[in-house]
Amino acid sequence: MHTEYDILIIGSGLAGLRAALAVDPKLRVLIVTKASDMNLSNSDRAQGGIASVLAPEDRFEGHIQDTLTAGGDLCDKAVVKRVISEGPARIKELIRWGVHFDLQNDGTLDLGREGGHRMNRVAHAHGDATGHEFVKTLEKRLRKAENIKVWTEGYTLDLLTTDAGCVGALIQSANHGKIVVRAKKTILATGGAGQIYRETTNTSVTTGDGMAMAFRAGAVLRDMEFMQFHPTVLYVAGSARHLISEAVRGEGAYLIDKNGYRFMPDYDPRAELAPRDVVSRAISDRMVKTDSANVFLTLRHLDAEMMKARFPGIYAACKTVGIDITRDRVPVRPGAHYMMGGVVVDEHGRTNIPHLYAAGEVSSTGLHGANRLASNSLLEALVYGAAAGEDASRCASKMPDEMSAVLLENATQTSPEVALRLDDMQNTLKSLMWRYAAVNRDHEHLGEALETLAQWHTYILSADFESPEGWELQNMLIVATMLVEAALQRKETRGCHNRSDFPEMDPAWCRHITFVREASS
Ligand SMILES: Cc1cc2nc3c(=O)[nH]c(=O)nc-3n(C[C@H](O)[C@H](O)[C@H](O)COP(=O)(O)OP(=O)(O)OC[C@H]3O[C@@H](n4cnc5c(N)ncnc54)[C@H](O)[C@@H]3O)c2cc1C
Repeated sequence: MHTEYDILIIGSGLAGLRAALAVDPKLRVLIVTKASDMNLSNSDRAQGGIASVLAPEDRFEGHIQDTLTAGGDLCDKAVVKRVISEGPARIKELIRWGVHFDLQNDGTLDLGREGGHRMNRVAHAHGDATGHEFVKTLEKRLRKAENIKVWTEGYTLDLLTTDAGCVGALIQSANHGKIVVRAKKTILATGGAGQIYRETTNTSVTTGDGMAMAFRAGAVLRDMEFMQFHPTVLYVAGSARHLISEAVRGEGAYLIDKNGYRFMPDYDPRAELAPRDVVSRAISDRMVKTDSANVFLTLRHLDAEMMKARFPGIYAACKTVGIDITRDRVPVRPGAHYMMGGVVVDEHGRTNIPHLYAAGEVSSTGLHGANRLASNSLLEALVYGAAAGEDASRCASKMPDEMSAVLLENATQTSPEVALRLDDMQNTLKSLMWRYAAVNRDHEHLGEALETLAQWHTYILSADFESPEGWELQNMLIVATMLVEAALQRKETRGCHNRSDFPEMDPAWCRHITFVREASS
C-alpha cells in the first residue's frame, strides 16, 4: 500500500510544526507522529523558555559570545550568528500568531536568566509552561491549514531511498497498516535520544529513531558523544523524573548537599548559574563525596508566593510526591536532557541525502558545539524548522508530480523473529548507558559498554520485530553505539563530554567526530 504527498514531515514537535507552517498552502503536507497524542514531545515539556536578545540593554554579540563559550570551541560561528540574529523576528512571529509570553507590570517581556547567560534574555509563558504554549499555538494555526494532514500513531520505520535520494518513508500507521508514503521532500523532525539513558528528562518518544534511520539511509551524523545532562532532575523513588528548570536557579535557588552545605561556589565563581556541564559534574562529585544518591535544591530563602506563581508546573509536580518547593528541600540529580549531536545539515536544513532535510534536536546545525546554552534549542527548532520548510516547499514546487519507483534497500533488514523481553532489554540498555557513559566517562567503562553493545548487535539488529518497542530498541542500540564509540575516541574533556582519564581540553581534539554508514554494511 502506498500514498503520495509533496512534503512528508516526521515528528510533531516544534521543529516539525514550524516546518509545516512554512510550506506553500498549494502543496500537500503530511505530518506523521508516533504517539496517539501529537503533543507528546519534548517541545511540549519545555519549561524555562526561549533565549533571545530582547532587552534594550542586551546585544547580539553578548548572546553569541555566551553560546560560543558554552559550546567549547566546537560551534559554527556563522550558524550561531544567524540563529541568534533571527531570534527577535521568530519571537515576534510567535506573538503575532497568538503566543502569550509572561509580561512585567510595565507590559514588557518578563525575561529570566539561565546558566551560561550573562543577561536576562529568556522569554517564558505561563511561568514554566513555555513549550506547551508554543505547541498549542502552532497546532491551532496548523489545524486551519487544509493542505496539512496529521497522522498520529504513525511510527516511521525507515526512510526510503533511490539513487536520486530520499523518496519518502515506510510507516506503520494505526489506520493504514504498513504503508509507503512517497514524498518529493522529507523533513526529519524526530527529536533527540534521551531515552537511551535510565535517568532522563525526555518524553518516552525520544528514542533516537530519526538519527538511526538517517544513519541507515546513509546520512552523515556528528557530535554523538555530546549528550547534555541537566543537573537538576527531581529524584524521588517511583516518581517521574521531572525537570526542575534552570530558571529556578536563575531566580536564586541554591544547591545544597545532605548536610545543608551550599557547594557550588567551591566549584565555579558563577555558582548555581555556571553552565550545565559544570553544575552536573559538581553535583556528581558532591554525591560521591557525601555518599548520597542526590543533592537538594532549596528555595526557602525566596518569596514563596512569587515562586508558586513563577513555577506553577514544578510546584504542582513536586506536590504530587509530597514536596512543597517553598518549604522543603527538593531532591535532585543529573539526567540525560539534550542531544547536541545528530544529522548534519546546511543552512537550509538539507542533509547530504538529496531531498532529505532535518530540523530540531535530531539535527546538528553547528549552533550548540560541545554544549548547548540553555534555552537556545527552542529557538533553533523555530529557525531551522522554518528554513527547512521554506526550502523544501520552494524546491518541491519545481518538481514533477510523477515520483520514481521506490527501492526498500535501506529499510531494516530482518530475519526470523527472536523471542526477547523488549522492556527488559530496553531497561538493560538504559542502565548500561547510565552506569558507563553518563556524566563521568573513562576508557575502561566506555570500552566495557562498547563490548556489550557490540554483542547485542549480533542478535538485536537482525531481529524481525513487529512492534514499535522492537524498532525503538534497534534505534536506541544504534544511537547508543555511536555515542559510546565517539566518547571513547574523544580523549579529552570538552563541553558536556567529561573524561575523568583525560580531564583537560586538548586543542588537537577541536574537531567533530562523524559517522556515516559504510556502503557495504
Ligand atoms: C523537560 C524538558 C524541558 C526543556 N526545556 C527547554 C527550554 O526551556 N528551552 C529550550 O530551548 N529547550 C528546552 N528543552 C529542549 C527542547 O524542548 C527540545 O530540544 C526541542 O523541543 C526539540 O524539538 P523537536 O521538534 O526537535 O523534537 P520533539 O519536540 O522531541 O518532537 C519529536 C517528535 O518526533 C516524533 N517521532 C519520534 N520518532 C518518531 C518515529 N519513529 N515516527 C514518527 N514520529 C516520531 C515524536 O513523537 C515527536 O512528535 C527541554 C527539553 C525537555 C525534555
